[in-house]
Amino acid sequence: MRDYYQILGIQKNATQDDIKKAYRKLAHQYHPDKGGDENKFKEVSEAYRVLSDAEKRSQYDQFGRVFSAQGGPASGGEGEQTPGGWDFGFGQGFDSSDFDASNLGDIFEEMFGFGNRSAKKKDLKKGQDIEIEIEVPLEATLSGKEEEISLNNQILCSRCQGKGAEPGTPINECFSCRGTGEVQQIHKTFFGAVTRYTICPECGGEGYRPNKPCNVCKGEGRVKSEDNIKIFIPAGVDTNQVIKVDGKGEAGRKGGKSGDLYARIFVKKHPIFSRKGDDLFVSREIYFSQAALGDEVEVPTLDKTKILLNIPQGTESGKVLRISGKGIPHFQGYGRGNMYVELIIKTPQKLNKKQKELLESLKSEGL
Ligand SMILES: [Zn+2]
Ligand SMILES: [Zn+2]
Repeated sequence: MRDYYQILGIQKNATQDDIKKAYRKLAHQYHPDKGGDENKFKEVSEAYRVLSDAEKRSQYDQFGRVFSAQGGPASGGEGEQTPGGWDFGFGQGFDSSDFDASNLGDIFEEMFGFGNRSAKKKDLKKGQDIEIEIEVPLEATLSGKEEEISLNNQILCSRCQGKGAEPGTPINECFSCRGTGEVQQIHKTFFGAVTRYTICPECGGEGYRPNKPCNVCKGEGRVKSEDNIKIFIPAGVDTNQVIKVDGKGEAGRKGGKSGDLYARIFVKKHPIFSRKGDDLFVSREIYFSQAALGDEVEVPTLDKTKILLNIPQGTESGKVLRISGKGIPHFQGYGRGNMYVELIIKTPQKLNKKQKELLESLKSEGL
């Protein structure tokens, strides 16, 4: 087997720029669609694929083309997670595309018509994002609280740590694609033969396969299991707000990056309080005598304390009184909204003899 550095005609200490330049020149020269030597082209592509990836390159420098279970490509840094990295946003979309400037170099590959392979491979391994809905009572919006939810998820296989190989067994180059991760298909068309490169079905584009797949995950690097996930519900959340929990979606295949979890909040209706923004609304029934003479009445609050509310003399039905700072806390801010109490004058349905007499005399007084 020839040396990748030799194939690209570069020195061992070549920079990424040197590698890219050398590859562009040779790929252009050997591209089969442009009448070049197809085998040479494949060699050049393979050399570039390894040397342009810092991790694969150092692997190659150390071990040649043998991938070991300990330091094989399956242990790539793509599985990095930031558990507990909370990220809040309002109406945040479910856009999981992670734009990576290093993919720009692949645009060149794309120009030659076999697609953005490294990106495709990345997407193939990456775990799916998960979208869930969390119902919380209105009281839960008063203070931040950590909720633990349980869901059926794809989680990292603990036996092989996502590598897909039985512990202690090597990961070998795929025999079908010889480690390139792709196979060539030639279609005969009316206009002649068209060559297409597709992802190797044997290794799924990995270019390597475990010698002995992990007993637990059968080589997938992840298993279906109940997953307990802690989600911090911040104070002041409202319905349709989305909380993102990094890396808590499905685990990636074969050590690939995990997806993210998006929890859409649904705040349940409260039997007494209604919410508008960060303000709370509640109604309180009072008697005509209290409204006419004035009184002090208890009103409930969402935090379960009672407040004495002063009803001014001559209050009309439907009057709204404001109690400041007794609403919902402002999301990621200071202070709270207000509570508004609507006073409703209640007409008594049942009267005893004395009440009836008193009301009769009120009536005769013109009230
Ligand atoms: Zn393969
Ligand atoms: Zn496993």
